[in-house]
Amino acid sequence: MAEEIKHLPMVVPLPLPEAQLVEIVEKSKDWALMHGAAMRSKTNFSEDALQFAPFVLIPSAFPRKEFAKALEIQLILNELMHKVAHDRRFLTESLKETIKVDEFTGNLFRIYETVHSEGLTQFGYGSVRFDVGGIVQKAHADLGALLLLEAGGVQHDRVGFRLAGAVFRGHPERASLGLLRSDYMVNSASTDKIKQVEINTIASSFAGIGTNITVFHRYILQELGHSEMLKNLPENNALEGLCSGMIEAWKIYGNPKAVIMFLIEDITYNICDQRFHEFKIREMCPQVRVIRRTLTDMADRASLGPKKQLLIDGCEVAVIYFRAGYEPGHYHSQKEWDARLLMERSLAIKSPSIHYHLAGTKKVQQTLAKPGALEQFLSDPVKVEKVKQIFAGLYSLDFDELGEQAIQMAIDDPERFVLKPQREGGGNNVYGLEVRDAVKKMKDSEERTAWILMERIHPPLSTGYMVRPGGSKVPQLVDMVSELGIFGVVIGDAEKITYNKQVGHMLRTKVATANEGGVAAGLGALDSPYLI
Ligand code: ADP
Ligand code: MG
Ligand code: MG
Repeated sequence: MAEEIKHLPMVVPLPLPEAQLVEIVEKSKDWALMHGAAMRSKTNFSEDALQFAPFVLIPSAFPRKEFAKALEIQLILNELMHKVAHDRRFLTESLKETIKVDEFTGNLFRIYETVHSEGLTQFGYGSVRFDVGGIVQKAHADLGALLLLEAGGVQHDRVGFRLAGAVFRGHPERASLGLLRSDYMVNSASTDKIKQVEINTIASSFAGIGTNITVFHRYILQELGHSEMLKNLPENNALEGLCSGMIEAWKIYGNPKAVIMFLIEDITYNICDQRFHEFKIREMCPQVRVIRRTLTDMADRASLGPKKQLLIDGCEVAVIYFRAGYEPGHYHSQKEWDARLLMERSLAIKSPSIHYHLAGTKKVQQTLAKPGALEQFLSDPVKVEKVKQIFAGLYSLDFDELGEQAIQMAIDDPERFVLKPQREGGGNNVYGLEVRDAVKKMKDSEERTAWILMERIHPPLSTGYMVRPGGSKVPQLVDMVSELGIFGVVIGDAEKITYNKQVGHMLRTKVATANEGGVAAGLGALDSPYLI
C-alpha cells in the first residue's frame, strides 16, 4: 500500500529556520493556553491547571472540493440520521444480532424498548390532556391526526406523534436534538475523494476548541508573514452552531426557568471544549443556565416530577447534552443505567435521545451501506448517490453468506481493513495483521456479530510540526494524516424535521504511523484545513 500514498503540498516552505521555529512555537503555546485551546493533564491531573492541547503548528492542506462536498452533504446526513433514529424497524433489524452479544449496545437497546413500550401505555385514543414542562396546557389528539400542543397560549409546538390505530409510530417523545459530527479522511487509494470514517451522534466534541484553532492558525500564518494565505482558511462557527441547536431545543421545551444540563464524565479532561459551550450559551441567550452532572449524580439525586419533568438539585432540566454515557466505563453500576433510563423517560430533550444514540452505532453505519438501505430514507436519488459516494466498503460479520465472505476477506488480506466494535471514544479498533488474528479467533463465536469490518482508508500525507505539552522546544518535521469532522444540528420529531444545519468543522491530525489519532485519547493534534 505504501507506494500508493501521496504527499499533500506544503502550505509554507518547511523546515523553518531554527530560531524562527523556536520563537513561533513558544508564542503558539502561549496563544493556545491563553485562548483555551487546552485540556487538563491526564498524567499530572489538577482541577486547577490546564495544559495546551496538542496542535499542528501550520494548518494542513486539504482539497478544497472535497471540503465543500463534506459541508454540503451534512444536511443530507442530518436528515438521514434523523430518519434512521426514528425508524424502529430499521434499528431493531440492524441491531438484532449485535445486541445479543454486545452487552453495552444491548443495555442501550433495552432502554429504547422500555421507553417505547411505556409510551404505548401512556397515551391512547381520543383527546388527551397533559402538560409539558409546566407550560403546555392543552393537547388534542384525533385518530390519524397530529397531536398538537399549545404552549402557554402563545407558542405552538408541534410535537408530532401520529396515532396509527392505538400505536404511536416512531418514538413517544417530543423533539430530538441531534448534535452530529461526521468524520472523513481523504482516500488517496481512491482518487483523493473523502470517505466517511463514522458519524457521531453522542458527545461530538471539539466544536469549542476547534473553532479557536481556526483563529489560532490565522494568527500563526500572519506571524509567519503569510497574511495573503488567510483566505484559504475556511470560516468556522461550529461552537455557535451547536450552542444555537441547544438553545433552540431549550426554547422548544418551553419553560424559561428550566436549565440545560451537560451530562459529564467523573473527571473531565476536555474541560475547555465543554466550558466553551457553556459560556457561549450564556452569551447567546442570557436567561439560560447550564449545569453539569455525572451519571452517578443523576442516579443519586435525580427524579421525575408529576409531568415527567427531569428534576435534579432543585432544577428542572429542559435539555440534556451528553458528554458522557457513550462507553461502558461511564456506567459504574446498575444505578447509572437506571439513571440513563430515568433521563430517557423524562420530558427533557436529549442530545442524544436513546434512538439517536443507537442510530450512531457502527453496526447501523454498516447496515446503511447495504444495497437499497439508503433508498428507504432518502427519496431523492441524487441524495442517495451523494451519500453512497462517501461510504467506504462496510461489511457485516453476521452468520450468513455475506458475513462468511467478509471473514474470508479479512483473513486473506487483513491490512485492507479495520475491524470495529460498537464503541466510541477511540482506541477500540483493530488494525493491520491483528485483524486476521482477531477474525480467526472470533470466527466460530457469536461475538463476531458485535463487530463490523471496514475498508481501510489511506489518507495522503502532509509534513509539519506537531507541538505537544512536554515536547521539545524544537519540534521535528513529521509525516501526518488528517481527519476532518463536520458538525451538523438537526431538530425534529417522528414526523418532521424543523431545523437542519451544517454548522462548522474541525480537523484532527495524527502522525502517519499511528492507527488512531484521538486528541483526547492522546495521539492526535488539533489542526485546521488549509484549502488547496
Ligand atoms: P470512534 O467512535 O472510537 O472514534 P472511529 O470509527 O472514528 O471510532 O475510529 C477511530 C479512529 O480510527 C479514527 O479516528 C481513525 O483515525 C481510525 N479509523 C477508523 N476507521 C478507519 C478506516 N476505515 N481507515 C483508516 N482509519 C480508520
Ligand atoms: Mg471517531
Ligand atoms: Mg465515534
